[in-house]
Formats: sequence, C-alpha cells, structure tokens
Amino acid sequence: EKSRIGVTGLAVMGANLARNMARRGFTVAVHNRTTAKTNQFIEDYGHEGAFTGAESLQDFVDALQVPRTIVVMVKAGKPVDAVIDELAPLLDQGDIIVDAGNSHFPDTDRRTAHCAELGLRFMGIGVSGGEEGALNGPSIMPGGDPAAYGEIADVLTAIAANIDGTPCCAHVGPGGAGHYVKMVHNGIEYADIQLIAEAYDLLAHVGGLSAPEIGTIFEQWNTGDLESFLIEITGIVLAKTDERTGGPLVDVITDQAEQKGTGRWTAIDALDLGVPLTGITEAVFARTLSALRDERRAASTTLAGPAPKPATDVDRLVEDVRQALYASKVVAYAQGFAQMRAASQANGWDLDLGAMARIWRGGCIIRAQFLNRITEAYESHPDLDNLLMVPYFTEAVGNAQDAWRRVVVTATEHGVAIPAFSSSLSYYDGYRRERGPANLIQGLRDYFGAHTYHRIDGDGAFHTRWSQDGAEVRTD
Ligand code: NDP
Repeated sequence: EKSRIGVTGLAVMGANLARNMARRGFTVAVHNRTTAKTNQFIEDYGHEGAFTGAESLQDFVDALQVPRTIVVMVKAGKPVDAVIDELAPLLDQGDIIVDAGNSHFPDTDRRTAHCAELGLRFMGIGVSGGEEGALNGPSIMPGGDPAAYGEIADVLTAIAANIDGTPCCAHVGPGGAGHYVKMVHNGIEYADIQLIAEAYDLLAHVGGLSAPEIGTIFEQWNTGDLESFLIEITGIVLAKTDERTGGPLVDVITDQAEQKGTGRWTAIDALDLGVPLTGITEAVFARTLSALRDERRAASTTLAGPAPKPATDVDRLVEDVRQALYASKVVAYAQGFAQMRAASQANGWDLDLGAMARIWRGGCIIRAQFLNRITEAYESHPDLDNLLMVPYFTEAVGNAQDAWRRVVVTATEHGVAIPAFSSSLSYYDGYRRERGPANLIQGLRDYFGAHTYHRIDGDGAFHTRWSQDGAEVRTD
C-alpha cells in the first residue's frame, strides 16, 4: 500500500513531523539524504505507526500515492533548492512539494514559480513550536495555491495544535505568504523575549531580586494578562538551580544571545516596506550588542554610568514592570500586525489578520491568551490600521502608561538599558501625536537639498531659496 504523504529530511523537525503524522493515522514514507538516519528512524520509531523507510529518492517517490505530497524538512537555504532539483525529474505533473522549513519568503516565491514551470505545485508552510511542537502539535502557516492546500489540509489540520476545537492551521495566502507570516511570528518572538529579558534585568539590578525570586514573580504574572508560554518558561528557567555551582543556572549562562536570522529578515522587510517596527528591530540589535562581549567588558570599566541610586519600593517596581511589559508587548504586536497588513497590501495577499492571531494561540512559541483579543479586534474591525486603536488595547496601554513611564525613567536613572521598553513607549508617544517634529526635518531637507515641503494651510509643494533671496517658491 502506498503512503499518503512523504517526509524527506529526518533531523529533529522532520522526524517529529513524520511521527506526528503517523500518530494521527496517516501512512508516511520517510527519507533522508544520509541513509543511516532513515534506518535509525525506522529502528527507533517504526513501531509508532505505518512508516515506509526509503533508501533512495526513487524508492521514496515510488512509495507515495499519486498525486504525491512530499514534505521537505531540510536545512533552510541551498539544501531546499538541491532537494527540489533532485526530486523534480522523479515526479509527475500535479505532485505537491511542501517546504516546511524556515525558508525566506522571497525564496518561496521563486521556488513556487520554478516548480510551476515544471508542472509541480509548491507550498511554503511556516511551522512553529520547535521540536516539541512538531511532535505534539505545531502552529502551521501554509502558503501557496489554495487548491493544493485543500488537498493536504486533512493532514496539516490533523497534526496542528488544537485550541477549543479549532486547529492552529489556516491557509495564509499565495506564494511566500505562509513563510512571511512565520517570519513575522519569529520577529514578534524576538520582541517578546527581549521585553522579558529587560523586565528581568530591572527586577535584578534595580529591585535587587535574585533569579529564583524573579522566577516566582513570572509564575504569578502567568496567571494574568501576560499568561503565555514564554512567561511560563521564564519562571521555570529562572527557578533552575545549576548542578555544578548550586546557584541559579541563569547566573552562569554567558550573556551573549545568538540568532538564526528570522528576526533580522523581519526588520529588514519592515525597512523595505516603510513600516515602523521598533520593538522587533531593537530586539535584534540588543542581541547583536550582547554579542560584543569583549567590547562590553572593556567599556564596563571605561564608560561612566549614573551614581548609585537608593533602592526603590520593590513591590511597586514589580507591578510597574508588569504593566510596562504588557503595554510594550501590545505595541510589539501592533507593529508586527501593521507590518503584515502592509505586506498583504503590497503583495495582494489578502491576509486575514484575525485568523493569523487565531492560529498562533496554540503550538507556537508566542502562544498566549492575549491573541484572542487580537482575533476579536480584527473580527470587529477588519480594516484596522493599528491594533492600538481598538478599545480593548487603547484602554490596556492607557491604563498602563503611568507605570510604563515610571519604568523608563527608573531604568534610565539607574543606567539599565531597556531598548524595547523605551522604544515601544516612544512609538506610542509618536503615534498618538497629531503634530510631531517632522516639520523641522522637512525644513532642513529643503535647506540642504531643495527637497521641498508641504504647508499645513494649503496644497502644493514649496521650496524656500534659503541661500539666495529667502523667498518661497511653489515647485509643483
Ligand atoms: P537542520 O536544519 O539541522 O537540517 C538537517 C537536515 O537537512 C538533515 O536531514 C540533512 O540531511 C538535511 N540536508 C542538509 N543539506 C542537505 C542537502 N543538500 N540535500 C539533502 N538534505 C540535506 O534540521 P532541523 O530539523 O533542525 O530543521 C529543519 C528545518 O526546520 C529548517 O529549515 C529549520 O530552520 C526549521 N526549524 C524550525 C523550527 C521551528 O521551531 N519551527 C525549529 C528548528 C528548525 P543529512 O542527515 O543527510 O545531513
């Protein structure tokens, strides 16, 4: 009997997706470039379901029901192209290649077009939730031809996480749309994590609290508005005792954050689209600054900081930081969703932003209660420009703003870097200003480059002959 679906690439993600499919009752053919891994997979997990292990790509292709569905779960980048090139000559018209790795969305657009020329259907699907998610139910963001999605939706919705009877999987849009939404998901994850790190820094260095004490605070926070996977695991990580030193594990982890690139892609795309995306971008920069460990060590004994401040009221600090964290998180999501809206308009994707929040409620790294509020916001206001403008979020940030401002002041006075907290607040203050200072920017641009300006009291573009007679001339 031929298999319903095939998975090639049996590292941790591919292996776990294949096991998830088999546990849901699908027949699965598995393949890996290095055959030993396929054999090991069958040895370890063959008893879990109806697997067919294939040593060659030809055997793999022959093991599949036609039209074939092949999930490619190999290293992102060139390996995906290599696998497509090897598979294509073995496939029939109409077969579906699914790239479930973290591919960059322009690559997905390119591969979609390339496969179409060969008569193959290509789907780029975002899969979030790490190895646990892949095995037990990830959040799935499928992009590509809707008809092809219709043919594989049974498998994808069955293996996805499920919240209140709704699978965390919905067709996102054509071409690279699925990988785009996954990219923004990861960008938001960067912002969420940076905000958590800043909250921890404040509680430790202004509040004088130990890692386990802060862990207990996060555990409490996880029962309120902030309830989410990342807040939950922060409590667990902070509470962990190091076996070697007997002290908190986080205290002996090097303070250098690494990254694989999805946050950077999100920030670069925001710059390309012209969308203000300060939270995610600051989070990427904070990781790059953390990586300058030797420079920071030298600077720590050279560059002056503020004089020591008296201890603050710790209970008040904890509550203020909680509120600042929530408000900044709202801003990060507002920015990320504004970016997806802009990308949807620029690419004609017609993204359902409420559905994107819905499929992130379970399975993925940023899963949170709060996403229900975003879904509700788009259900009641489908053309919303900015999440901050719906009553729930307007009130949430409005109620938090006093605490948020106190946190930014306190951190600044104590010399604690809070790029995500402070840039979120600056975005908020910039966004709610009817008249900002860009009038002066245009004045300066007109002075040095004759870039012209518009006037508030009428139409037209104007230039002042600054270094000649100082007269204003209309230029349009
Ligand atoms: P890796 O990214 O480590 O990739 C290893 C796999 O790729 C192996 O099966 C390897 O085969 C195969 N491979 C590499 N180069 C080639 C090639 N030229 N031709 C054929 N096969 C090749 O695996 P992961 O499981 O960690 O990740 C898979 C994908 O999922 C990646 O895109 C990754 O970014 C993404 N991912 C997503 C996560 C999430 O939370 N959604 C978490 C982790 C990863 P071989 O054994 O022969 O070397």
